[in-house]
Amino acid sequence: MYKSIVIGTGPAGLTAAIYLARANLNPLVIEGPEPGGQLTTTTDVENFPGFPEGIMGPELMSNMRKQAERFGAEFKTGWVNKVDLSERPFKLNVEGLGDIVAESLIISTGASAKLLGIKNEKESIGRGVSTCATCDGFFFRGKKIIVVGGGDSAMEEANFLTRFATEVRIVHRRNELRASKIMQDRARENEKIVWSLNRTPLEIISGDKGVTGLKVKNNETGEEELIEADGIFVAIGHKPNTDFLGGQIETDELGYIITKPGSSLTNVEGVFACGDVQDSKYRQAITAAGSGCMAALDCEKFLEGHMVHDWSQSL
Ligand code: NAP
Repeated sequence: MYKSIVIGTGPAGLTAAIYLARANLNPLVIEGPEPGGQLTTTTDVENFPGFPEGIMGPELMSNMRKQAERFGAEFKTGWVNKVDLSERPFKLNVEGLGDIVAESLIISTGASAKLLGIKNEKESIGRGVSTCATCDGFFFRGKKIIVVGGGDSAMEEANFLTRFATEVRIVHRRNELRASKIMQDRARENEKIVWSLNRTPLEIISGDKGVTGLKVKNNETGEEELIEADGIFVAIGHKPNTDFLGGQIETDELGYIITKPGSSLTNVEGVFACGDVQDSKYRQAITAAGSGCMAALDCEKFLEGHMVHDWSQSL
């Protein structure tokens, strides 16, 4: 039995853990298969306040984890299979840890950027392949970039990347774009953006110094083509990690948890959500950390007067 369990160890979960631990709530933090979250797949983080020279993503996350541990947060590795939120205390079934119960729950399981699933893609992440223009665009100043995708994200990332790149080529598997008209128009009006439509990505090509191009299939001719580029941004959408909730928490049609505006409250009393799992818009480490703080404060307030267990007997 725990007073509070945090699921997920990105900036949101770790910030929540720091606040809960400092409030003497001894949280259990469950780390999944990607400890530290999406930031551990990036290199330099230059936009997290407080680090004028920047900091490596994994180092930032390791620091946050140490900070939470210092105040008494307990970390365990496991995969949450199932939760039962029908009554308090909530029950969690965790692979490798068994059944655990908690008075309150903070969900910070994040969202995962979808990948193309093509050859040499995973290996090239951080070596020229990225899923985050805001994070990594700056490293491609004066370079040629490919953005893969035909939705609003791809248009937005392509436009953003023209601030740095000499050329941004949008590669999309169909002739028609999925993006809204306004986003398409904005991209079409941008002189730095060029188009390779009706091309299906096949393989990331790289050399000693990282990515050099993308092999694609021309769907009109059936021929394979090589498009040269120094960086490839995959912008084919994100998937919030909410499957394990089994529909017990209200989400939008894309699976993002709906929180009460201006708070971290979900539709289930005692369950709070923070970070990318409830934010498809900002998706930044700093916004995630901020929302993690909100979740911890909301949780702390909720627990005052809502404890099911008599904790005085446990001391
Ligand atoms: P999306 O609308 O689902 O678009 C994903 C794009 O990636 C589609 O063009 C899709 O191709 C392509 N794609 C998917 N899997 C692929 C694969 N395996 N290989 C090659 N291409 C693949 O996702 P999104 O652009 O991230 O947008 C998600 C939501 O957020 C949307 O509702 C969007 O409007 C919203 N959003 C809004 C803004 C804004 O308004 N500023 C910015 C970003 C996102 P097909 O078209 O062929 O399926």
